[in-house]
Amino acid sequence: MYNVEEIRKDFPILGREVYGRPLVYLDNGATTQKPRCVVEAMTDEYYNVNANVHRGVHFLSQQATELHEAARETVRRFLNARSTAEIIFTRGTTESINLVASCFGEACMREGDEVIVSQMEHHANIVSWQLVQARRGIRLRVIPMNDRGELLLDEYERLFNDRTRIVAVTHVSNVLGTVNPVRRMIETAHAYGVPVLVDGAQAVPHMPVDVQALGADFYAFSGHKVYGPTGVGVLYGKEEWLDRLPPYMGGGEMIDHVSFERTTFAPLPLKFEAGTPDYVATTGLARALDYVSRLGMDQIQAHEQQLTRYALERLRQIPGMRILGSAAEHDAVVSFLVGDIHHLDLGTLLDRQGIAVRTGHHCAEPLMRRLGVEGTVRASFGLYNTQAEVDALVEGIERAAAMF
Ligand code: PMP
Repeated sequence: MYNVEEIRKDFPILGREVYGRPLVYLDNGATTQKPRCVVEAMTDEYYNVNANVHRGVHFLSQQATELHEAARETVRRFLNARSTAEIIFTRGTTESINLVASCFGEACMREGDEVIVSQMEHHANIVSWQLVQARRGIRLRVIPMNDRGELLLDEYERLFNDRTRIVAVTHVSNVLGTVNPVRRMIETAHAYGVPVLVDGAQAVPHMPVDVQALGADFYAFSGHKVYGPTGVGVLYGKEEWLDRLPPYMGGGEMIDHVSFERTTFAPLPLKFEAGTPDYVATTGLARALDYVSRLGMDQIQAHEQQLTRYALERLRQIPGMRILGSAAEHDAVVSFLVGDIHHLDLGTLLDRQGIAVRTGHHCAEPLMRRLGVEGTVRASFGLYNTQAEVDALVEGIERAAAMF
């Protein structure tokens, strides 16, 4: 039984008020709140274990290293990766994508080579490739979408040619909520011998993800969007690909031997983890993944899907409501505009009623241009949101709209 009221008790912040009203937190696409077990595990590690990992012979260092490596195993299990060698800890999705773009660009791309991205990418999965473009003269090709916010798969397939080197696509749109058919898209790419990087920032918190079943060559996500701490994220990469790529940064931990003449690198995954990692955050991330696993990703998905359906139904009844994105496969994100009310005004009026939503371009300006808008208001749901909170959102919008 999924008992949302019991679950909410695990998140102290949900009990607070803003402007004298109970907080209604609907900005989970930006970041999620943390359950007590995550914060307590991190506090406990700082109070009782703290020492640098992989370096010391002493007791605490070994214990901290065990926690850090156990966290890697937790992530491996969560994504169903084959081996912990395939789990790289990064600072988040952005760093994971930049790592792939930079290292893959260096090892596998030359002038005139092409990367395929989609119309609905987050800036993280556009600008990282533009940096490679500036350095190596590569080209970005863009998968178009229809007005419902679904990628056009025929057009996608037509983009492949003998210069296509990689596909970089988001699993779930952070603006439209579209769940892209990444498994099918990966099959297509593989038929052309092209690897695929999936941006899983908005998928991992909302659905079970099995990287082997998807066939993804690279898969990125952020800890803070899946109820874990800030400052830590993951890059999954197939071992055969990670082995082929050069290191991302140089420094401690990522080496085997160093001399001024010649340096050899550590085996995976440490080759990509220069410097002291945020080993306390990796423990926090592991506790967060344990937490959502205990609730069940299927159960979380069912709860959020029900909430999203209910929200769409109720929002559609508001006069002047325009919902952006109506893909058949839709996740826990709803973007909208009401009449000609500016998204920032609507967001501000909702905030004054205690309702936290996101406004603006959501780091997806090319998508905004395709939609013909400057920005939207976005409500995004998490595992602890309730139907009553959706009602509060609807009433909040009606109250705000009445002021115009
Ligand atoms: N990709 C998508 C689809 C996102 O929604 C986000 C966060 N808004 C990112 C990438 C970047 O994540 P982070 O800022 O945690 O690196």
